[in-house]
Amino acid sequence: MKYYALPPYKNKAVEFISLISREDRERAIKDAGYNTFLLKSKDVFIDFLTDSGTSAMSDRQWAGIMLGDEAYAGSENFYHLEDAVKDVFGYPYLVPTHQGRGAEHIMAQVLIGGRGGFIPNNLYFTTSRLHQEIAGGTWLDVSIPEASDPKSTCPFKGNIDVAKLETYIKEKGPESIPFVRMEASVNMAGGQPFSMENERAVSALCKKHGIFLLLDATRIVENAHFIREREEKYKSWSLKKIVRMMCAFSDGCTMSSKKDHYVNIGGFLATVRKDVFERARALVVVYEGLHTYGGMAGRDMEALSIGIKESVENEELVAHYVGQVSVLAKMLRDRGIPLCEPPGAHAVFLDAKQFLPHLSQSEFPAQTLASELYIEGGVRTMERGIVSGQHGSEPYDGLEFVRLAIPRRVYELAHLMYVADVVETAWRRRSHIRGLAMVYEPKDLRFFQARFEKK
Ligand SMILES: *Cc1c(COP(=O)(O)O)cnc(C)c1O
Repeated sequence: MKYYALPPYKNKAVEFISLISREDRERAIKDAGYNTFLLKSKDVFIDFLTDSGTSAMSDRQWAGIMLGDEAYAGSENFYHLEDAVKDVFGYPYLVPTHQGRGAEHIMAQVLIGGRGGFIPNNLYFTTSRLHQEIAGGTWLDVSIPEASDPKSTCPFKGNIDVAKLETYIKEKGPESIPFVRMEASVNMAGGQPFSMENERAVSALCKKHGIFLLLDATRIVENAHFIREREEKYKSWSLKKIVRMMCAFSDGCTMSSKKDHYVNIGGFLATVRKDVFERARALVVVYEGLHTYGGMAGRDMEALSIGIKESVENEELVAHYVGQVSVLAKMLRDRGIPLCEPPGAHAVFLDAKQFLPHLSQSEFPAQTLASELYIEGGVRTMERGIVSGQHGSEPYDGLEFVRLAIPRRVYELAHLMYVADVVETAWRRRSHIRGLAMVYEPKDLRFFQARFEKK
């Protein structure tokens, strides 16, 4: 494989970045309680915290910003968005929201709504799980065991364990399962796709028992790209056709458009079920905004509808983006650094348990490594280990990843090479790295605000 992924674009505007001194970085991370979420962006050189809302919009999207129709009701841009969602995803009913979690909140309220029940998921996403729980549901894991094994090279780690799902349906009864949530390019497993074959089987099982299949379609385009590469049958299909089929197997989706659609804010829910749509449309007014803007400005909806089309129609964009992820993974792998394999959709995940084997899980290896990468080179990453994965007093013996998420259309090959060098420098001094102690722990989603001190 080549060490580059050629971008199908060139720069028209640039944003300046600079690296502050090591001494200043050490002070900044200490002040941030060794939590990369609490760093100021001006102190960060390369920002791989997340691919969410951090993409560069295209000139066409910027042109769309000027076409904002900021009417309170019936904005022209809403109808463009509706057309784009119908055309690309095929769902007839759309409710816009300010971002993905707005859609998750409303879907959880509509489908669970305090009635309780169990929601099988392929692993979890932080906000998705919490919205299920706040609505009175209980999260269940139906991911395949390979999803939690960073060494497994299974091509579809995002698959649902169909036998396990079937057992749960039998055990709990279909009436106590408000919906099944199936996430595309599963974030917590390293951005790993499910296969069409698997989704087809899950869909058939849900249909048989009358259970709503909810797609978390946030990274559906990358998942479609992997399906085309790894499932013989879809080799000659267009991405758009694959995406349409993935949606057709589901009853509806929630979407954070801050990823695949290159916008800084936006999201929606969409469905084929008129009754679900009508209840969602009633709730969106309470929590987000009128049903023709859902928390977005008209201009945001215009940029979003253009981004939706770009995401599937310019196929080179996806190949380049996934290519950047695999190039960074290759540079790190070639230096002997332990990774989650195979690299997924949007990020490279370092295996912090193997990187810092002398630290126990109670010393927060992934949190520690994330703070060290910042100190080493001003590179901001995110902990995906015990701090974000442990819920309440549940025991946690899961993965310890540091996620290097690549914003779309923002960084160049030289930035990736620099990041690989920074990781390697930390790797060389790994045995001297000390762990952390948590000194402040908020109740929910603690990883956003938790504070640590060096041991
Ligand atoms: C980002 C994300 C969400 C939540 O969306 P926001 O736009 O951040 O509110 C939900 N699911 C997945 C898989 C995500 O990556």
